[in-house]
Amino acid sequence: MSASSLVADAVWKEIESTGSVSDDQLSILHFLFGKNFERATRIVDQRGVKRVSGQPSGRSVFQVVGESRRKEEYLCFAEQFCACYSFFYDIVNRGEQLCCKHQLAARLAASLGACIEVQVSDEELALLLSKL
Ligand SMILES: [Zn+2]
Repeated sequence: MSASSLVADAVWKEIESTGSVSDDQLSILHFLFGKNFERATRIVDQRGVKRVSGQPSGRSVFQVVGESRRKEEYLCFAEQFCACYSFFYDIVNRGEQLCCKHQLAARLAASLGACIEVQVSDEELALLLSKL
């Protein structure tokens, strides 16, 4: 794991434990993620992050809106995976970014309690994930 992803992890854990973001934490995240972090905060501000939880298992996945005019939604696991193009191109192939703006938006919204919570059955969740 790179030093910057360790720093990012520590900052996220702090934010998750307090449920709020300080100015210092904002500057660190901005330093680490740059433009992607600005985009992520815009997505969170427009309430673009849904957490879809399957019942009764409680397993969940995020659905995050993109910024294009088509307002597509991307299925996303905050720490491991996003279904968007940038995730495959910038992160998996080129290793240039730690994560995409959707993952950042999901993590930020979850830490701040700013997700729209959607509950579905486990069958519906499985169906959603099968489209990945
Ligand atoms: Zn993404």
